[in-house]
Amino acid sequence: MSVTTELKHLSEKEKESLEVAEASRETEWTQPSFVAELFLGRFRTDLITPYPLQSPEDKAIGDEFMVRLEAFLKDNLDPDEVDRTGDLPQNVIDGLAKLGCWGMKIPKEYGGLGFSQINYNRAVAMVASYCGSTAVWLSAHQSIGVPQPLKLFGSDAQKKKYFPMFAKGAISAFALTEPGVGSDPARMTVTAEPSSDGKSWTINGTKLWCTNGLVADVICVMAKTPSKTVNGREKRQITAFIVEKGTPGIEYVSRCEFMGIRAIQNGVIHFNNVTVPSENILWGEGLGLKLALITLNTGRLTLPAASAGMSKQALQIAKIWGKEREQWGAPIGKHEPGAVKIANMAASTFAQEAMTYYTSALVDRGGADIRLEAAMAKLFCSEASWKIVDDLMQLRGGRGYETARSLRRRGEKGYAVERMMRDSRINRIIEGTDEIQHLFIAREALDKHMRTAGEIMNPKASMDVKMKAFAASARFYPFWYIGLWMPGLFRRYSEYGSLAGHMRYIDSTSRKLARTLFHQMIKFGPKLERRQMILGRLVEIGTELFAMTAACAKALALEKEAPSETGPRELADLFCREAKLRIHAYFDGVACNADVAESKVAAKVLDHGYEWVEKGIMVDDGEGFKGNFGPPKTS
Ligand SMILES: Cc1cc2nc3c(=O)[nH]c(=O)nc-3n(C[C@H](O)[C@H](O)[C@H](O)COP(=O)(O)OP(=O)(O)OC[C@H]3O[C@@H](n4cnc5c(N)ncnc54)[C@H](O)[C@@H]3O)c2cc1C
Repeated sequence: MSVTTELKHLSEKEKESLEVAEASRETEWTQPSFVAELFLGRFRTDLITPYPLQSPEDKAIGDEFMVRLEAFLKDNLDPDEVDRTGDLPQNVIDGLAKLGCWGMKIPKEYGGLGFSQINYNRAVAMVASYCGSTAVWLSAHQSIGVPQPLKLFGSDAQKKKYFPMFAKGAISAFALTEPGVGSDPARMTVTAEPSSDGKSWTINGTKLWCTNGLVADVICVMAKTPSKTVNGREKRQITAFIVEKGTPGIEYVSRCEFMGIRAIQNGVIHFNNVTVPSENILWGEGLGLKLALITLNTGRLTLPAASAGMSKQALQIAKIWGKEREQWGAPIGKHEPGAVKIANMAASTFAQEAMTYYTSALVDRGGADIRLEAAMAKLFCSEASWKIVDDLMQLRGGRGYETARSLRRRGEKGYAVERMMRDSRINRIIEGTDEIQHLFIAREALDKHMRTAGEIMNPKASMDVKMKAFAASARFYPFWYIGLWMPGLFRRYSEYGSLAGHMRYIDSTSRKLARTLFHQMIKFGPKLERRQMILGRLVEIGTELFAMTAACAKALALEKEAPSETGPRELADLFCREAKLRIHAYFDGVACNADVAESKVAAKVLDHGYEWVEKGIMVDDGEGFKGNFGPPKTS
């Protein structure tokens, strides 16, 4: 069914956006997913245990490469200089090419390194811990740029043509965003029109914030192609095109400057009658958005790996500084607030890696649907690493706010904490903002319910269809719902030892989560889609439960390898304790919150209702500053 047909409360524009998003969803769940099961109240530990640690053979390949990459970075790349100048030197780009860094994910048969997802992530994480800009160059090319969709959907001819180029160092980019298209691709204005003989397409319009776009040899461009009529309704089409550098009509308009990752080559690109051959379509006409979403399922894993890499850097700085810096008679890491920050960094970093590398192992192994796991890893790690960097800045005090160059100039150690902060903030925005991740995860979490009972609420569904949905609901819900109230008496998780209590908690809380989600569906009906804060809290609970499970499962696996090492168990234990506190707060927030009152106040703010609060400042109106010193009236 269409999720949009029953949403009478939505505007036409909103429906259109949802329809485009729905049309590009992967509708089938043909492979198992730990997280999808969790949202249904089923704690399927068999899908996550034994935790898939990297095989010794694959690890050896990664280790050998990391040693060479580390040496190259140390000898050739000064991350503070790159940040200061805003440029990645050509010798670094060339050197990375010599190492094979632009072809890490390209299959060996085409001259690439043919890395597993795990080794690719490990390499990008190491680069991210050193130089955020360089990590984004690599990731924009290989996580969302042309190689990944080419690997998944390219024709043999396309692979033969482009893979060897990338393996030798050609760089690619991905162009979806436009001035009016951020999170919502339905507003896309860049068009591609077919020629009358069907042999080529002509692209027109403007793309914004295309990372690597200004230097890329090849760009994957998303464009609106002529709509099709399906069952009497207009179906919008978005198609992915491979566009090569030097094609007439490409105009690089402006290089964008950012708060962090300052050396990325990101900008505005005009496409003025840019003609590409039809064989440059990736996958097929109208499949562009679906391609982007599927590509991102795996592509998105680089970002949590990079976040974990940065978190490790923060942890090691905090460890040294927390002991070295003494104030009020004790090292700052021994004052309780400092200790809490440092402990949280260690536990959270462990959990970030556990989630990311579990999901990456599934990519390498195949046979699993990772869309929810990858989205959660991205959501969790980008938020967690931002908190870690913020905590590190607090621990470093004034020195955290000072640049590495300035610190060194006056003879202190040049920890680049302010650069880390500037570099890491973007992670909560790119490749799906936090809010869009909440929506995406919530939609998938509700999918089983929508497929079972959705047609009941669809005003356009025939009586026959409704009756079938009633029958399916009658078969599914009574048993399922009663099962959600059953305590998990038979599962003690004793193999987890001191972590067993956490496992039992996840088991019972997954059922509470499924019940709560179901209750909210009944309470709000189709309008639940509007209650994004409630959905967001439920998504966060699911994410914490996934992180807890991954941390416990990984601890158990590591312990099996090195039984005398208690560290993983201790960190998993601490992470679970902290996660439980957050989960309680989220459940409380579902039951009692100020969401409606906040929406009302926000509507009045947007309507200029509280302008008196803004008095007494110099107003930034985007074009300059104006005084706004009128007397503060409250009406
Ligand atoms: C440094 C950088 C690099 C980038 N690289 C690329 C690239 O290589 N290729 C590319 O195509 N794009 C790229 N982007 C674009 C990036 O993906 C977008 O910034 C991102 O998708 C968000 O879009 P937006 O900024 O227009 O925000 P908007 O979509 O305008 O959203 C603004 C805010 O509103 C929230 N919001 C939007 N819709 C909803 C909703 N329905 N419900 C709740 N909240 C909502 C968002 O979460 C966000 O907080 C890059 C951007 C930057 C800054």
